[in-house]
Amino acid sequence: MKCKECDANISPPKDSMEGEIITCTDCGASFELVKGSTGFELKPAQTVGEDWGQ
Ligand SMILES: [Zn+2]
Repeated sequence: MKCKECDANISPPKDSMEGEIITCTDCGASFELVKGSTGFELKPAQTVGEDWGQ
């Protein structure tokens, strides 16, 4: 699977579970592992501490 930020290849561990947070080693972006129809997909993870809407 590919990083949505920098297009680098990300290989999650074989024993990864849904909901796990994967961090791109290239750009440091964090993604949540979600199960799709063909396997795992990456969903941008919510980062805490930004955008509290104030
Ligand atoms: Zn990246």
